[in-house]
Amino acid sequence: MKKPDFAPIPASLPAMVPFTGPETLARQSGTPIRARIGANENGFGLLPSVLEAMQAAAVDAWCYGDPDNHDLRQAIAARHGIDPAQVMPGEGIDGLLGLAVRLFVAPGDRVVTSDGAYPTFNYHVAGFGGQLEKVPYRNDAEDPEALIARAKDVGARMVYLANPDNPMGGWLPAAQIEAMVADLPENCIMILDEAYADFLPEEALPTIAPENAAVLRFRTFSKLYGMAGARIGYVTGAASLIAGFDRIRNHFGLNRMAQAGALAALADREGAAKMVERIAQSRTRLEGIARANGLEPLPSGTNFVTMDCGRDGDFARRVVAELLKRGVFIRMPGVAPLDRCIRVSCGPESDMAIFETELPAALAAAQEG
Ligand SMILES: *Cc1c(COP(=O)(O)O)cnc(C)c1O
Repeated sequence: MKKPDFAPIPASLPAMVPFTGPETLARQSGTPIRARIGANENGFGLLPSVLEAMQAAAVDAWCYGDPDNHDLRQAIAARHGIDPAQVMPGEGIDGLLGLAVRLFVAPGDRVVTSDGAYPTFNYHVAGFGGQLEKVPYRNDAEDPEALIARAKDVGARMVYLANPDNPMGGWLPAAQIEAMVADLPENCIMILDEAYADFLPEEALPTIAPENAAVLRFRTFSKLYGMAGARIGYVTGAASLIAGFDRIRNHFGLNRMAQAGALAALADREGAAKMVERIAQSRTRLEGIARANGLEPLPSGTNFVTMDCGRDGDFARRVVAELLKRGVFIRMPGVAPLDRCIRVSCGPESDMAIFETELPAALAAAQEG
């Protein structure tokens, strides 16, 4: 019997799995992972207050989570000094990016991003039939002027910018992003991915009027709060845009434990501040390891450090592979010239020590290869 056809958009997409997780890498390599420092998770784990709230909520997991996310919306709104109607929680930034693309991008519409920027966004654009337009990084940073120029050129519906950036770790001056917002073309929405904003001081972030209907800002509990496996983040923007998410979102998608954990996370300002400090110390530790091995750490406003290996992508790929053989999971940027670098996540001293021990051997082996 012939298999029923896929719909036209998925039928046109390549049959690949775009993200290979550390579990798969460990299975394929036959080496258990001893230091999981490749996906910018928070190896320090949950804040104790968050863990306690999630454990308490687990008892009630027989109930669906509140589909309105009422309490969480209130808490997020209070945190940012905005209206709850300007907030939509969702299944991580990744899930929310998919909804945003679905809301605004019709098949054939143009979407502008940077070549080498966050790939999950691209995956969603392709999945809804959008046409990606990529502009190169400039000096290892996303280039707001070039992004806007391309958006104007092609009549883009959407333009993506991560600040701070993944995979390079840097951030742009607030004024530069504010200028980008002011210069957006008509009918083009800016996706401002602030997955790492918690690691920057508030003053370093752009000021954008919450009622500005041309920008959506995305935040997550995955990075600072260590809740990556709980899948929870949120988007803020003009109430008219946010209301759109109700048309298409998975209304019961947020589980009770994630909702309770996020509420506890927002309430624990002291725990969050301490975690920011621990991550900063871990960044310093990673920068030291990089320099001791002749690698140049790039400035980072995130919970990872990108290290310039000073050679080409093939070399950096060998370093990543050699580290994996030694039980160390890291990642690297996907395209040249960014792919001369490796990207290492912050984590507890036990992970840092393993990385410190294995890096010299991995670099030596990569040099021979
Ligand atoms: C980690 C990351 C995300 C994913 O966030 P989730 O809330 O876990 O889905 C989104 N954007 C960028 C740039 C990231 O690095």
